[in-house]
Amino acid sequence: MSYNVAIDGPAGAGKSTIAKAVAKKLNLIYVDTGAMYRAMALYMLRHGVNLQDTEKIIENCKETDITIRYEDGVQVVLLNGENVNAFLRTEEVGKAASAVSAIPQVRKKLVELQHKLAAESDCIMDGRDIGTCVLPNAQTKIYLTASSEVRAKRRYDELAAKGEECDLEQIRADIEERDYRDMHREVSPLKQAEDAILVDTSEMTVDEVIEKIISLCKK
Ligand code: C5P
Repeated sequence: MSYNVAIDGPAGAGKSTIAKAVAKKLNLIYVDTGAMYRAMALYMLRHGVNLQDTEKIIENCKETDITIRYEDGVQVVLLNGENVNAFLRTEEVGKAASAVSAIPQVRKKLVELQHKLAAESDCIMDGRDIGTCVLPNAQTKIYLTASSEVRAKRRYDELAAKGEECDLEQIRADIEERDYRDMHREVSPLKQAEDAILVDTSEMTVDEVIEKIISLCKK
């Protein structure tokens, strides 16, 4: 049986940064499930699908083939055979991902891929519903969070470092809106699994969080 670590939490809590570092140290594969929903959203945006139109999204979802490949330990998302990694991390795609991920047919398709990856390899998987729905038997479960002020500030610093113009209050409003939608949707809402350990990173450095998660994995 493979060893699985589940990390869930709201947008900007640092899940991917932490999961990547822990994966490297513990020799696990890092599975970024948000990137799969983002790839699905990218397909809809590219095809001009109205994100309020559930039927159209379901129809278009059938035309997508999303797979994952690893190159030097880095997850590459293939959308109908094309490497789309470079297009996934924008605010527009993140918002669209939050909309398409509320549709059960979309989730079913991507959760199948997630199950397959977790069964095949020792992995650390991050998302919103990993500990509650996707891998309920994961040996280690973490719920990673931070205040919305701290999460918005981190995102702001990240964008500013890339030279992108941004507004801190707007980022915070977007983050809170996305969290609300992810926590209140009918299927697989974001919530802490009963057996998950809560780690609030508001007052912690990245290295402190990595150490903490590694110690939880070793328990
Ligand atoms: O984590 P990331 O910001 O890349 O996720 C983008 C969106 O995809 C989230 O806001 C959420 O709506 C959705 N998602 C999800 N379930 C997951 C991972 C992501 O619904 N396991």
